[in-house]
Amino acid sequence: MRPVVAPTLLLFLCAGLLACDRTPTGDIAAPAGSAATPAASDAARIEADVRALADDAMEGRQTATAGYDRAADYVAARYAEAGLAPGGDGGTYFQAVPLLRATLLADGARFEVRRDGQTIALAFQREFLPRASFHTADAAVQAPAVFVGQAVHAPELDHDDFAGLDLRGKIAVLFGGAPSSFPGTQRAFHASQREKLRHITERGAVGAVFVNTAADEVRMPWARAAGNWDTPTMRLRGPGGAPIDGWPQLQVIAAVSASAADALFAGGDQSAAMLFDAANRGALRGFDLPGTLSLAGRSAIAPVQSRNVVGRLPGSDPALVAEHVVLTAHLDHLGIGAAVKGDRIYNGAIDNALGVAIMLEAARTVRAATPAPLRSLLFVALTGEEQGLLGAEWFATYPTVARAGLVANINLDMPVLTAPSSDIVPIGVEHSSLKAVVTAAAAEIGVGVSADPFPEEVVFVRSDQYAFVRAGIPAVYLDGGVVSADGERDPKVALTYFLRNCYHQPCDDADQPIQYGDAARLARLAANIGTRVGNAPARPTWNAGDFFGGRFGGAAIASGPDARAAEATTPGAAGASVD
Ligand SMILES: [Zn+2]
Repeated sequence: MRPVVAPTLLLFLCAGLLACDRTPTGDIAAPAGSAATPAASDAARIEADVRALADDAMEGRQTATAGYDRAADYVAARYAEAGLAPGGDGGTYFQAVPLLRATLLADGARFEVRRDGQTIALAFQREFLPRASFHTADAAVQAPAVFVGQAVHAPELDHDDFAGLDLRGKIAVLFGGAPSSFPGTQRAFHASQREKLRHITERGAVGAVFVNTAADEVRMPWARAAGNWDTPTMRLRGPGGAPIDGWPQLQVIAAVSASAADALFAGGDQSAAMLFDAANRGALRGFDLPGTLSLAGRSAIAPVQSRNVVGRLPGSDPALVAEHVVLTAHLDHLGIGAAVKGDRIYNGAIDNALGVAIMLEAARTVRAATPAPLRSLLFVALTGEEQGLLGAEWFATYPTVARAGLVANINLDMPVLTAPSSDIVPIGVEHSSLKAVVTAAAAEIGVGVSADPFPEEVVFVRSDQYAFVRAGIPAVYLDGGVVSADGERDPKVALTYFLRNCYHQPCDDADQPIQYGDAARLARLAANIGTRVGNAPARPTWNAGDFFGGRFGGAAIASGPDARAAEATTPGAAGASVD
């Protein structure tokens, strides 16, 4: 799981079964039951996989590390055991993902406000952090600044933070997020850093400063996020070695803590506190800031490589074998970082060893059933999720099978199954025909379906399914339940506890009270959904008038083999990205 859209600093670092003439076999429909049923061994296999992937020996599985590669080899071995065919490059289970890694250096970092003959220097790490550059080891810019609110341009909602402002040659100063008056989906879309940086760049800015608001820091204190300032960040590496979505026009991108915001806004018409309040009320207006800003940052930049791990179950219908239902779970996590209570290894048991383990169990389940679904199924353990959905973006842009044949994505990420539940939460099903599929599958498995308990977290755009959505492919993100199974332990409370205390912390390890029976049920559900989509007469479709379908839905249709070849030479045009 990726960090929430705000606070901004974190983003730095961070159809039925063919009308049912075919009855599911194997343990797809097996009820969760006694120890003698397949369910018990399902749970044990999932637990063994979680314990292996979240072991200290995997060193937190950070993208492009030896620990991640050990975890990738483990997943490939499990695919082979399950009888999946290699679905990666050149007959292997692996798809190479070229990356650039940039690490910020403290030495040479600068944030100065020059105004009325005075210079105010902010303190590195405590008050500001430059973002590592993927373009130049020594980045610097000095220019006047303009405050652009939340940098949201949404004419469809009659909102334009850039109205009347001239950004040419200036440094854009902005807040994260998007107006709370926006509908959830549009709010999430416009809150993304990708959209903000795109608009700023198009308008001629030469730098960007993200200012944390007081509300941002209630969610995530600056100091906690800033403690990992030297954690490397990554981008996809395009042909010729240039980063994809690196924003070269923006010489320096920096973040400023809420407590240091006054130094930035002093001398203008409005104080930081007034602006934080206006942001809460949706009443922000942009303006030119007095004086100039002088920003600098040094970075160590290196080309690296990581791997997606791809297993394939060929479809049983020769006419549909080239179409693929893609099940995904990200394998990477945060690696080794700042110590918390003496522990420096960010094991990522729930985020997302558990999702991968559930995907592996779903693969075993579908593989064990006969005949195979009509369409093919792909199982992809993705790299680079925590770095900005990079492995998913690469796969959705350069899949190892025909891109036009990708019919749906079913993603598993960070199911917080730490209290027994009787339901699941299918995020994003309201956008496509997948809703009917998920509803039917859940009824067959005997699991309830609940709405997203925290719609304000907009997780549909925060995990790997969004890379598929942006490629025009209907997707669902299967998340853990929120209804208590025993009437005592409340999954919603357990989820909140996890998010506050162990999310992206070293304590997200295999000691968490993971409910492996619930995990096994989620695996059966994922297998059932994959099988239903695989056997449906037609591939899934976006709902009429849907926001994502309207914005991206044409991409899937437009992308025949020729389109794929064209993108192979210009990957940037395909919109691979960063958020
Ligand atoms: Zn995460």
